[in-house]
Amino acid sequence: MAIERVSVVGAGTMGSGIVQTFAQAGIPTTMIDVAEAPLERGLATIEKNLARAVERGRLAAEDAQRARDAITTTTDLAAGVADSRLVVEAAFENPEVKADLFRRLDAACPPATILASNTSSISITQLAAATGRPDRVIGMHFFNPVPVMKLVEIVRGLDTSDATFAVVRDTAIAVGKTPAEVNDFPGFVSNRVLMPMINEAIFCLMEGVATREAIDEVMKLGMNHPMGPLALADLIGLDVCYDIMQVLHHDLGDDKYRPCPLLRKMVLAGKLGRKSGTGFYKYE
Ligand code: NAD
Repeated sequence: MAIERVSVVGAGTMGSGIVQTFAQAGIPTTMIDVAEAPLERGLATIEKNLARAVERGRLAAEDAQRARDAITTTTDLAAGVADSRLVVEAAFENPEVKADLFRRLDAACPPATILASNTSSISITQLAAATGRPDRVIGMHFFNPVPVMKLVEIVRGLDTSDATFAVVRDTAIAVGKTPAEVNDFPGFVSNRVLMPMINEAIFCLMEGVATREAIDEVMKLGMNHPMGPLALADLIGLDVCYDIMQVLHHDLGDDKYRPCPLLRKMVLAGKLGRKSGTGFYKYE
């Protein structure tokens, strides 16, 4: 079944990218946030991205205008979701914020509406339990930058129905993404595999196995990774990496996921990677 209107909750890095992706695919999209300022920032980012795509000849000017015209914004959650068959939540990565939102979305949305979360690490099953429609709750995990990255991890909670999965999978394909079906376990597949690799690279640095440059060089040239794991950790944010390792360690209960002490020390020192100017490397 084709989705006629989508609502996206959260106009930040991911929310604005998700809105742009739906709008460019011709789906009318409502962008919702708690205040006008984040909505204006999100819209400005989308307009800049569309203008750049036109300049570079990757998008026709009239298609950019059509995408812009498909977007409406509001701070009124209930009004913003009233006509949508699919709501994608991309608010802060905080279990209480998300559970509260899912409770309010459940109360505001028509019964058939599917509630999806873009969470990187919070259990979809737990969010579903905050609603009276666990069969219509699902994970739709996009990657940054959303308009560019092809993958969407589609995460099935314990009670997600086959019908819900099919609608979300078909919608992901309709907006030009490649879905990968995964079950609801900590870190899904992406962070369950990526973060321990980054964590192990940090152990190698801490134990003096090699320099940071050598570690990154081995993984780039030997494994054909576009970036080394330490440079990638700086890009993601060392605080984000630390938080995700803690979730894996706590929720899977296996010491093989213990965060490297050097990672913890870097976070405590405020060396968070690119966003703070220093991580494993220095940035201008
Ligand atoms: P962000 O901080 O850039 O944006 C979050 C936005 O949500 C803000 O504009 C905030 O005002 C809004 N918000 C917070 N509470 C709200 C509420 N109750 N109602 C409406 N809006 C609310 O965060 P982000 O980086 O875009 O991350 C959003 C989600 O996407 C998180 O769950 C994160 O884990 C996930 N995610 C992030 C990335 C990434 O690389 N940044 C990648 C994949 C998934």
